[in-house]
Amino acid sequence: MAKRDYYEVLGLSKGASEDEIKKAYRQMAKKYHPDINKSPDAEEKFKEVNEAYEVLSNPEKKANYDRFGHAGVDGNFSQGGFGSGFGGFNMDDLNDIFSSFTGGFSGFGFGGNRQRRNNGPTKGENRYTTMTIDFLDAIHGVDKLIHVDVDKMCDACHGSGAYSSADIETCPTCHGTGHVTRQTRTAFGIMQQVTECPDCHGSGKHIKRHCDKCGGEGYIHRREEVEVSIPAGINSGQQIRVAGMGERGTNGGPNGDLYIEINVRPHQYFIREGNNIHIKVPISAIDATLGCTIDVPTVHGDVELTIPAGTQPNQQLRIKGYGVKDLRSDNRGDEYVEVEVTIPKKLTKEERDLYSQLANRSNKKESVFEKFKRQFK
Ligand SMILES: [Zn+2]
Ligand SMILES: [Zn+2]
Repeated sequence: MAKRDYYEVLGLSKGASEDEIKKAYRQMAKKYHPDINKSPDAEEKFKEVNEAYEVLSNPEKKANYDRFGHAGVDGNFSQGGFGSGFGGFNMDDLNDIFSSFTGGFSGFGFGGNRQRRNNGPTKGENRYTTMTIDFLDAIHGVDKLIHVDVDKMCDACHGSGAYSSADIETCPTCHGTGHVTRQTRTAFGIMQQVTECPDCHGSGKHIKRHCDKCGGEGYIHRREEVEVSIPAGINSGQQIRVAGMGERGTNGGPNGDLYIEINVRPHQYFIREGNNIHIKVPISAIDATLGCTIDVPTVHGDVELTIPAGTQPNQQLRIKGYGVKDLRSDNRGDEYVEVEVTIPKKLTKEERDLYSQLANRSNKKESVFEKFKRQFK
């Protein structure tokens, strides 16, 4: 069976925002949850919805999917039965969704995970951006200064948000668990509703006096100048990681990372193919016939190249080692010079006379065309 488009599965159009994706997933997951929806294809639909969300909620996988479709994302999605294989899912998201149903569902093993809802240090999400650089900068490497708006952990309170460690105490409302449990009567019977603690918002801590520097936030929002070192040999589509410039972590966890996808501007004359460079150079018919020596441009400066006598149009000559340095080794590609033989459109009188003399002499032997025609007789 052909896989459906992930956006279609969630009832979205391409370009849906993170919030829209999350919202659609919640609705669809509730709609097709096999404990609620008893139609025979509910389980299949539920799996499909989860698979779509697993990809679209992950910026890296989503970017791959947007570019390459199903082929761009890892095919190792868990196809295990319910209760066995929730390997790839984001338990927090599922717990959020089912927090209002936990009393009614048994077969999923959510109960245990509920307790794990972490209020320990968690690394922040990664962020993604793109950068366009010049063709030759990609070949030789370049350092670029960028500005990143980032939340950095407050160094006065080390992210706790408290004036001193003596100002941190266990939240009296939730006793440090970060969540509270309520029983409610619903259409499905008595439900235990587990929600985030309203007083500490899940941290499990109560702060008596807030940090002066960050006002209790635990982080400071600032614009950082970062020098990004782009290695020689990078090509379009490759990414550079800038550690610690992603979203802020929670509960004192480190920031995520920033990934910069490089886009290389094309060059007017050089064309890159892997680590090889191609260039076309115009050569007069006389120089191609008699041979000559030229200073041919390469990405590493001019190189003297001998055009042998009798060089044909579009013939390629290789200049070994004058291509791009491999990103991971010291090997270098080559430059391929394609000879474009050009025929003059206008001649001086003197040139015309000389060409005519040449033509008269050639007339005495069989021309290339006559040789060709002879094969039709
Ligand atoms: Zn609390
Ligand atoms: Zn602080």
